[in-house]
Amino acid sequence: MSDALLPAPADEMTAVWWDATRERRLLVQTCTACGHRQHPPRALCTGCGSTEHLDHLEATGLGRVDACTVVERAPAEGLATPYVLARVRLAEGVILLTTVETPAPHDVAIGDPVRLTWRALSDGRRLPTFEPAPEENR
Ligand code: ZN
Repeated sequence: MSDALLPAPADEMTAVWWDATRERRLLVQTCTACGHRQHPPRALCTGCGSTEHLDHLEATGLGRVDACTVVERAPAEGLATPYVLARVRLAEGVILLTTVETPAPHDVAIGDPVRLTWRALSDGRRLPTFEPAPEENR
């Protein structure tokens, strides 16, 4: 797949998160004051409002499909259809808007266990995507 949907460049808030993707590490922002976890990274904790206690933990890469749809018509040139657009709830609790990579897109259902995989971008960053993981995640 091309970089048809290359995400915006990292900014001050997201640089740590994007840099970790270069090493295939998926970070989840956490608040050491109240324990809240959030995604994407923000300047303050949406749980307690702290700006001083934000840290990151590395996700296990396991999750479940929270919602999904099969995209049949590409929204931009260079995207191969059909593909599965999904909300995935990580084991760490946060939700990512992502894709589920599978040869059988119509078989993906809400509640399915998935595991992290990566799609390389032309600038060295990687996008977290997911694939069905029927064995590992029950
Ligand atoms: Zn907090």
